[in-house]
Amino acid sequence: EPSVKQQEPKLKETSTEKTAPPIESSTESGKDNLNLIVVGHVDAGKSTLMGHLLFKLGCVSKKVIQKYEHETEKIGKQSFVYAWVLDEVEEERGRGITMDIGKSKFETSSKSITLLDAPGHKDFIPNMISGATQADAALLVIDATAGEFETGFESGGQTREHTLLIRSLGVNQLIVVINKMDNVSWSQQRFDEISQKLGAFLHQVGFKDADVCYVPCSGLMGINLIEKPKDPSTAWYKGPTLIDSIDKFNLPERPINKPLRMCVHDIYKNIGTYSVSGRIETGYMNVGNKVSIQPKGEVAVIKSLTVDDVSRSTAFAGTYVSVVLTNVDVESMCVGHVLCDLQHPIPVSNRFEAKIVLFDLIYPITKGYPITLHLLSLVDPVVITKLNAQLHKVTGEVMKKNPRCLMKNTAAIVTVETSRPICMELYKDVREFGRFMLRDSGVTVAAGLIVNIL
Ligand code: GDP
Repeated sequence: EPSVKQQEPKLKETSTEKTAPPIESSTESGKDNLNLIVVGHVDAGKSTLMGHLLFKLGCVSKKVIQKYEHETEKIGKQSFVYAWVLDEVEEERGRGITMDIGKSKFETSSKSITLLDAPGHKDFIPNMISGATQADAALLVIDATAGEFETGFESGGQTREHTLLIRSLGVNQLIVVINKMDNVSWSQQRFDEISQKLGAFLHQVGFKDADVCYVPCSGLMGINLIEKPKDPSTAWYKGPTLIDSIDKFNLPERPINKPLRMCVHDIYKNIGTYSVSGRIETGYMNVGNKVSIQPKGEVAVIKSLTVDDVSRSTAFAGTYVSVVLTNVDVESMCVGHVLCDLQHPIPVSNRFEAKIVLFDLIYPITKGYPITLHLLSLVDPVVITKLNAQLHKVTGEVMKKNPRCLMKNTAAIVTVETSRPICMELYKDVREFGRFMLRDSGVTVAAGLIVNIL
């Protein structure tokens, strides 16, 4: 159903002149943008780490820190101060354009980093799905404390599930933050032990060794975040700090030369006009241009564009944008609809073949299994109508044709049927629109890639 929110009319008018196609997409500061997601087991220290990093980078005012220092002292929980800072930042960003995914920004020497998602939230998986589909790279935070790494890594812990999830959704660069090193007296032996155990697992799920690095930190004490650690106990570590490691991530290829695709995340009602927001996945858009809105194929005109509250005449792949549309009947607009290039609209179908990776299932999946599809912001009931083959989880080779059911922690090729026509692409053509998650009763049961549109 269309989710239409009321919003103060705040979008400024812009000129309707067309601009030449862009060469590069970069931010105001001239630095290229990278979307980063932070994952890891509950209590690994994600909020504290990111809150402290943002503070050290000057993204949080002294006043805010002092306020929290005072409040946390009162309740005897001084160590919560940085996690609270992150919540404050979240609230602050909440006042901007409302989006499904909150974001805060910081800069490294060569990049502008958008931090996706709210790493402090305990119920992380649903947010993480939409976050991970937009992430270019990830931080996996591990608690080095004796027994804690083991808890997070074993069955039931979130370390494995989060890692599989981000990998299945195409994230291939990773920093493993071995955190709370202060709890283990900066033991090199502990660092090596965790790096080795995780390394074997990461290799198995398809991360290339060259795309993974391990950084020891203390988020709470703020050690090895932006300054090299000085204490003699840390002398064995010769690698980069956390911020320098983040700076070394490879920039993703921004598909600005492909036809325009933007998946609608939110719909707002202004006086007489409607605006939609979301991320431009491929291509670019200009004020004054016509766009086709799929799957219904209506044509609308872009009246204005806003990026980070600033009015623009052009916006490129990789940016979150708010778009005011005219000529459109909004009753027919839904979250999950796609704004496309008029000449090259996105394929629309109600049946596709996909390669899926199954996580922890309670019941095995059989033919006719009803399930919920999440594809970017689209959420729709679907049915798995055919089990074509079971695959080897790591190598992908066919183990069994037409299996009767699919068990947990396996991979398979299946046919999926939607209840109405939806927008989709082959993963090999446009990965953003070709990957999805399947959820059942509020639990993520599988991630998948579209290999054939039927
Ligand atoms: P999250 O659930 O992963 O976001 O974890 P939090 O940031 O909320 O931290 C969980 C707990 O671990 C809190 O009590 C923190 O004070 C504590 N903590 C976080 N980072 C560190 C650290 O570097 N060292 C120590 N000793 N404790 C930490």
